[in-house]
Amino acid sequence: MRTGQTHLFIPGPTNVPEAVRQAMNVPMQDMRAPDFGDLTLGLFEDLKPIFRTQTGQVMMFPGSGTGAWEAAMTNTLNPGDKVLMSRFGQFSTLWVQMAERLGLAVEVIDVPWGAGVPVKEYARRLGADKNDEIKAVFVTHNETATGVTSDVAAVRRALDECFHDALLFVDGVSSIGSIDFRMDDWRVDLAVTGSQKGLMLPAGLGILAVSEKAMEASKTATMRRAYFEFADMVKMNADGYFPYTPPTQLFHGLRKSLDRIHTEGLDNVVARHNRLAEGVRRGVAAWGLDLVAEHHTLYSDTVSAIRVPRDIDARDVLCIAYEDFGASFGSGLGRLAGKVFRIGHLGDLNEGMCLTALSIAEMSLARAGANICFGSGVAAAQSWYAYEAVEQPKLRFAAE
Ligand SMILES: *Cc1c(COP(=O)(O)O)cnc(C)c1O
Repeated sequence: MRTGQTHLFIPGPTNVPEAVRQAMNVPMQDMRAPDFGDLTLGLFEDLKPIFRTQTGQVMMFPGSGTGAWEAAMTNTLNPGDKVLMSRFGQFSTLWVQMAERLGLAVEVIDVPWGAGVPVKEYARRLGADKNDEIKAVFVTHNETATGVTSDVAAVRRALDECFHDALLFVDGVSSIGSIDFRMDDWRVDLAVTGSQKGLMLPAGLGILAVSEKAMEASKTATMRRAYFEFADMVKMNADGYFPYTPPTQLFHGLRKSLDRIHTEGLDNVVARHNRLAEGVRRGVAAWGLDLVAEHHTLYSDTVSAIRVPRDIDARDVLCIAYEDFGASFGSGLGRLAGKVFRIGHLGDLNEGMCLTALSIAEMSLARAGANICFGSGVAAAQSWYAYEAVEQPKLRFAAE
């Protein structure tokens, strides 16, 4: 038996606020009732500002972020279409794999894990693509495996500068609702997220926003899809209904979490993530450890991937944290297994929780054999939270 609270410091599923959990504790209801739209229509409307879109069509598929990604690809592309992608972490790797499985012709650029989307190389390939053979360009906005945030606006500029017409796909699963994301300003065509990260809900909804241009493409796209057909979804959603059974409990939770985000203000939510993340980063720096992210302009405000000293196995750190201190950190994914552990800092979070994460990480690192001065990371973060953070840092990707 364990006493007290366990600690979830992983980048999804994130902590569900108590009020959101309570809101989901409702009886089952009739999903074809005449007033069902009273619950759902407002959700579609209030999700739009989360994507910062006015013209995008928001859809919610039962599933997770991965399902929404499959929906995005299969509804807007044709078998054999050429798509431009880059691989710099486990999630961007999975998207390449999915695109290949679905029969797309993937032009993939491999960059080091810790780098971001190779904008210059994208620009070069788009510029060389005189016949517009590339039909879509993919950006993993926040690579959760490496803690790297890429510059989506710069990819949009690269497309515009060579008058390229490709669709812009963005994986925003661990950024939307936590890190500055602007669908309309950046003219993103397909933006994907899931319920269990910035939206502070259990997993179960794959959420996407689709531009008018992508909706138009969906009318003629010939890839096979059945469950994820946009047309079926859009038709039923118009009156607040779904083509199959939706997870109604999650909708009640979503209502509450959207209310919370709108009450705090999305700009404030984004600023809070930046402030909390910076404290964690200062803690890591005080330990003398490095982040996987190669440069400070790439640092993610939702997850920090931390390299452990070479003679330490990060799996030991995770194990000690979990077994002895009731805390979960993110593991090193793919080629980072054993070399990295991650602190997720997104969703329903505050300073005290980040300090707890740093404190337990210090004990776990030390027990795993790392040379850590107890309190060093915690003190660096405390100093930031108590004094320095009061002056808000400028947001990195604010509107131009
Ligand atoms: C979590 C995550 C996913 C996977 O989403 P699921 O909801 O687990 O399907 C994809 N991309 C990124 C960047 C993520 O953080």
